[in-house]
Amino acid sequence: MNHGRGPDNGGYRSTMQRGLINHLDLTVSDLERSTVFYESLLTHLGYRRSSEYGGGVPNWVVRAGPVSLSIGLHRARASTPHDRYAPGLHHVAFHAASRADVEAAHELVKRIGGVVLDPPAEYDYTPGYYAVFFADPDGLKLEVVHEPRFDQESA
Ligand SMILES: [Zn+2]
Repeated sequence: MNHGRGPDNGGYRSTMQRGLINHLDLTVSDLERSTVFYESLLTHLGYRRSSEYGGGVPNWVVRAGPVSLSIGLHRARASTPHDRYAPGLHHVAFHAASRADVEAAHELVKRIGGVVLDPPAEYDYTPGYYAVFFADPDGLKLEVVHEPRFDQESA
């Protein structure tokens, strides 16, 4: 790993963690309806609406240390319903800060008319894995999860 300045980047090195997802853009059948849904969900999760990206697509960004992710929406040009068992995206999971944070997301999803697929529960994927699963207005499966393995030691 090269921690120094390299000739291939003008002498600068990105502060972002290499390999992490930079942005995720979703195609939606009703841009206005999904903008309302994602505005509520993503601002709840700590994203802010952004105009950093061109093209006029709704876009939200979260940044923390060496991690930055933006999520954008695009208007569908076909009416094929989303099928997570067809080739493509199966589901997207967001980190939560705690179990209470997962439960708060569950309450929010119910308030904004999201479809709860599986209410908050513990799963055995990793020790203490606690998640809620729900669908966006097009049926795209989303998840908000707390995993204790990512918790910081409290001093
Ligand atoms: Zn998952």
